[in-house]
Amino acid sequence: MINEEKFDYLIVGAGFAGATLAQCLASGLNKKILLIDKRPHIGGNAYDCFDEAGILIHKYGPHIFHTNCERIFNYLSRFTKWRPYEHKVLAYVDNKLVPIPINLTTLNQLYNLKMTSEDAEAFLESKAQPIEKIKTSADVVISKVGIDLYEKFFRGYTRKQWGLDPSKLDKTVTARVPTRTTNDDRYFNDSFQYMPLDGYTKLFENMLNHPNITIRLNINFKDIQSKIAYKKLVYTGPIDEYFNYCYGKLPYRSLNFVHKTMDMQTYQPVAVVNYPAENVEYTRITEYKYLTGQAHPKTSLTWEFPSAIGDPYYPIPRPENHELYKKYEALGNSTPNTIFIGRLGSYRYYNMDQVVGQALAAYNKILAEEKGISSIPELNAG
Ligand code: FAD
Ligand code: UDP
Repeated sequence: MINEEKFDYLIVGAGFAGATLAQCLASGLNKKILLIDKRPHIGGNAYDCFDEAGILIHKYGPHIFHTNCERIFNYLSRFTKWRPYEHKVLAYVDNKLVPIPINLTTLNQLYNLKMTSEDAEAFLESKAQPIEKIKTSADVVISKVGIDLYEKFFRGYTRKQWGLDPSKLDKTVTARVPTRTTNDDRYFNDSFQYMPLDGYTKLFENMLNHPNITIRLNINFKDIQSKIAYKKLVYTGPIDEYFNYCYGKLPYRSLNFVHKTMDMQTYQPVAVVNYPAENVEYTRITEYKYLTGQAHPKTSLTWEFPSAIGDPYYPIPRPENHELYKKYEALGNSTPNTIFIGRLGSYRYYNMDQVVGQALAAYNKILAEEKGISSIPELNAG
């Protein structure tokens, strides 16, 4: 039960957005925080736990930390040690396991060639279709690698993942995946690529271990909204839900996660194997021991099956959805003493580092307001 204490902030959602603001406000501005989550755990979608076999798994699918922002990396480094980890992904295409992002090895293996990087550049140039104004997720790929590679690697995967053809999705979605003509087979280009050494949940425990922070789990905001005294609200759940869908529902994509443990050392050669073919229902399989470095005689994996119904995991980037979000954003901006942040609160396809960056910026703004100055140049996390 929550007693009659008065809180400075009620923070809804104990994911990266909520936890970062809670930590900064509690330690930097000595605010009393009530942090709630409707789930039975902290960590939001980054939550990890040991399964029945004793293997550390990610309950909501694979989470790999990567960023180009040193300040965000340094901020999180206060709460965890890191395990250097460069993510590798293979795609099952034409009965072969080949690297994705498409690189020199992919092209040579797929087409039985022995190209150099220069040959590969010329090869892709000959396949690429010029598109004057790149708008959609189909345009991005076709203009770089042509139709054949687009169909093999992107069309089916995207149609499964989003329930939409790539031509109906904003260019930013497939633009997340680069194309290379070198042998670089890392999934991400970022300068910081790590996994939290003891897992994400431990990182969150360290962030939230502060006398000013009270955590209450299994509590839905709707059920306590009117029963609790607080001065300000930070909301990291879906913004349309907060406003009772007054302009209509914002579309989200969901996933069903099927977790399995196999009685073998390893199941697949890398952490993630993508299955772009449309006749395979799932999109990818993740084997956690590669991410965590855990030694165990068995191995645990997750299959991801995209779904229209279920928890809202992905905002769907396309112009009409952005337009609808803008209406909710305007409503949010005119709601006093309330901040909407995070992947769901700001309806943005954000990675973890971007959410932490957004929360640090929100804290910076609060700090500037409270100290009576118009802006503080550096993110000055408490
Ligand atoms: P969330 O983590 O979603 O937290 C929001 C919390 O609010 C949830 O715990 C929810 O239960 C709670 N909540 C919502 N409504 C209410 C309510 N009414 N009352 C109480 N509580 C409520 N990012 C990366 O950087 N690298 C990756 O490899 C990566 N992989 C991903 C894989 C998958 C399958 C998914 C879905 C996401 C992945 N992400 C990855 C993105 C990452 O999960 C998000 O950027 C990040 O977790 C968002 O944090 P958040 O705090 O905004 O939201
Ligand atoms: N994508 C694809 N084939 C792949 C990998 C990615 O078509 O093998 C597309 C797909 O639309 C996916 C998007 O690129 O949703 C972004 O991929 P990412 O791996 O970043 O997705 P996330 O990890 O966020 O689910």
